[in-house]
Amino acid sequence: MGLFKEVKKPVIRAAATGGEISPLRPRYTPKTPPCIGACPSGVDIRGWLMTIAQAEAYGRTNEQAYEIAWRKIAERNPFPAVCGRVCPHPCEDGCNRKEKEGGVSINALERFIGDFGIEKGLKLTRLTDQTYPEKVAVVGAGPAGLSCAYQLARRGYSVTVFEAFSRPGGMLRYGIPRYRLPRKVLDAEIQRILDLGVELKCNFAIGKDMPLEQLRQEYRAVFVGIGAHKGIQLGVPGEDAPNVFTGTGFLNRVNSGEEVRVGGKVVVIGGGDTAIDAARISKRLGADVTLIYRRTRAEMPAIKPEIEGALEEGVKIEFLAAPVEILTGGGVAVGMRCIRMELGEPDASGRPRPVPKPGSEFDVEATAVIAAISQEPDFDGFAGLREGKSWIKTSEWGATAVDGVYAGGDDVELGLASIAISQGRFAAEAIDAHFRGKPLAKDPPPGAPSGPITTARMKLEWYKEAFRHDRAHVPPEQRGIDTEIEFGLTEEEALAEAKRCMSCGMCMDCETCWMYCTNSCFVKLPKGEHYKVKLEVCNGCKKCAEQCPCGYIDLI
Ligand SMILES: Cc1cc2nc3c(=O)[nH]c(=O)nc-3n(C[C@H](O)[C@H](O)[C@H](O)COP(=O)(O)OP(=O)(O)OC[C@H]3O[C@@H](n4cnc5c(N)ncnc54)[C@H](O)[C@@H]3O)c2cc1C
Repeated sequence: MGLFKEVKKPVIRAAATGGEISPLRPRYTPKTPPCIGACPSGVDIRGWLMTIAQAEAYGRTNEQAYEIAWRKIAERNPFPAVCGRVCPHPCEDGCNRKEKEGGVSINALERFIGDFGIEKGLKLTRLTDQTYPEKVAVVGAGPAGLSCAYQLARRGYSVTVFEAFSRPGGMLRYGIPRYRLPRKVLDAEIQRILDLGVELKCNFAIGKDMPLEQLRQEYRAVFVGIGAHKGIQLGVPGEDAPNVFTGTGFLNRVNSGEEVRVGGKVVVIGGGDTAIDAARISKRLGADVTLIYRRTRAEMPAIKPEIEGALEEGVKIEFLAAPVEILTGGGVAVGMRCIRMELGEPDASGRPRPVPKPGSEFDVEATAVIAAISQEPDFDGFAGLREGKSWIKTSEWGATAVDGVYAGGDDVELGLASIAISQGRFAAEAIDAHFRGKPLAKDPPPGAPSGPITTARMKLEWYKEAFRHDRAHVPPEQRGIDTEIEFGLTEEEALAEAKRCMSCGMCMDCETCWMYCTNSCFVKLPKGEHYKVKLEVCNGCKKCAEQCPCGYIDLI
């Protein structure tokens, strides 16, 4: 399947365009596509999609193109197979193809490329053969810490990661359930980072096994990526019963392989990813699950397909309800007293404030209660990095108020894996720049000095109609704790999907400008270098810019 509609070079007579038509002249101007603009990891999404789409045109086999694509992603994100499964893919939200037949399935393609990398045993590359004497310590082996370690190791530094738990991965291992992220995928992507020579010390809690100050003295820089693992309690009576869990505490125990007995009726409170994961796990443990959320479905912060998945699996959601009290009997929780809510004026978060309706209390039976309302970092041993009760504050490059100490990820603000990965990278770049006395590079998306490009600048009708490929799912009745729910794309689907990328704001060698120019201003350059514009023979007819499908040409 071709990328675009076949267009024959039209016969445009010189008389029609001859002479000076306008003083405007074309200029190739790369622009940020919406996908790159929205990717927290700042990955060159358009670049790797077009690498796959144009494999043949560049004389590459598909496999060669996949490897190049994998390397482009790994430049900034060493977890493509992980993120290709769990990232809520903000990159797809603004995809200009949405205005046609549906945005490009970028996340499913990322998984395809990530899985290719694992299957082929691709290794992460170092940026230098040099090794520098400065040693760096990373606290926490979550995505933030591991990304920081990766970016430092490939820049020639010796890095030691200290991890409190027995295995690395942070919330990717101890929060996200296995049915969403198989551990062999996580293990493979972590092992590649360790293969760069990163030392990992598990069961070693900074603040307990060694004070942060000592670590700071022994290492030239420290990155703190301790995440937020402490579940916040509801603050209602009855919460100290043994069958009441916090969301992160419950998921941690299940994901650590512990047998957790929840009985036949579980009540989960919350509306975020932790609540949904806890509800779906409880369902898999055999319980009837009721999730209590104080606003409506529209305000639920959890990833939308996860909410749909939970409903599909039979999780009941009581919207506009909040907990009042955990009912106990014989020393254990036996139910939850709730109250109906209604939505009032927007609160500080911009969402409508839930307001209790007096006299609307109702009871729900429970054999276990999971309070998954939020989580916070355990700052024991890290108090020096905070001001009052606030979480760690950093510069945009991750520097904290303490000299030589950097931070990123959930301990700065609860976020996503991709945000943690980018913050780990920023800190690594800052540490490297500091050690080597280099200026800190600005971080524009690759090849994009100007603003994001919208459909107003695209010629959507120019692209061949091609429908989106979505991932298939295991039917609800066959889902278990370890069965991965989502299937990947087939190779055929992945190739077709890559070819749906419209290369917004970047030349894709479609030849349209060259075809429409009657004055032969456009001189073809070797593949990848696109065209040279001979402005001296341009008469300002504007056709090249008007016809460019991807908005790459500006008139100035
Ligand atoms: C249940 C759940 C589901 C989620 N689902 C998604 C999702 O689908 N998609 C998505 O993008 N994001 C999701 N997230 C968010 C994502 O997992 C986090 O944003 C991300 O893991 C944060 O990375 P981090 O490295 O900052 O922290 P973490 O991943 O939490 O890692 C921190 C690490 O530091 C270690 N540590 C803590 N204290 C110490 C200490 N004192 N000494 C040494 N080590 C220490 C911890 O043990 C942990 O391994 C989810 C989060 C949860 C809780």
